[in-house]
Amino acid sequence: MVDLKEQVSTLTMVTGGRVPFTQEVWAGKIQAGLSLKYNEALKVFHLLLTEEITPLTFAKPLLAVGATVRLVDIETGLDTPWTLPAGSTLEVRMEWHSFNEPVRGRVYFDGFHSATAFADSLVTWYEQDIVTFNTAWVDPTGARPHTWDIRVRNDGVGACEGEIIQICITTTVGSPAVKGPEKLVQCKWCKTRFTVKREETIIRCRKCKKTFIIFNLP
Ligand SMILES: [Zn+2]
Repeated sequence: MVDLKEQVSTLTMVTGGRVPFTQEVWAGKIQAGLSLKYNEALKVFHLLLTEEITPLTFAKPLLAVGATVRLVDIETGLDTPWTLPAGSTLEVRMEWHSFNEPVRGRVYFDGFHSATAFADSLVTWYEQDIVTFNTAWVDPTGARPHTWDIRVRNDGVGACEGEIIQICITTTVGSPAVKGPEKLVQCKWCKTRFTVKREETIIRCRKCKKTFIIFNLP
């Protein structure tokens, strides 16, 4: 088993120890020339299909032919659908994927199929838009909560390895904070759900005692 504390130390060394690996790094440099405003926060959905065993919550086993799997909220370890709270809007800023088998990705907004992407095998696809989709186009004041669900199906002939990530920005309408001091997370290993402090990232499961990693985004 890899020593997680050692990995985190290495990460600190990579950042040079000059700045804490926290808000400053992420908030200041999410994109060249762009910073998060006071009422904006990052929201990232990720899926890594791999044979490797890893404590990262978005890493899942290879996807069988015809099977469907959901992306993971990297801040909580929970599968989508994720719920955007009322009072906020969600904007899709960047998407990327790469798989060794052809896959079909589908996005469901409020439970309705709203977008599809096909990835041919061994093709890497990357797009960094100004904006791809914004819930404000439907609900500009965040009058009600919305769900966001991303599914990937293996349309190929073999077990699928690969990765897909979608980076979004949430905006709180009229007030600065969108993320609370605590959050509900899910153990990668036994699926038990419990509450942790927002800044906690290396989590020892209360039930199975195994460790999993979640991220703390600005
Ligand atoms: Zn557990």
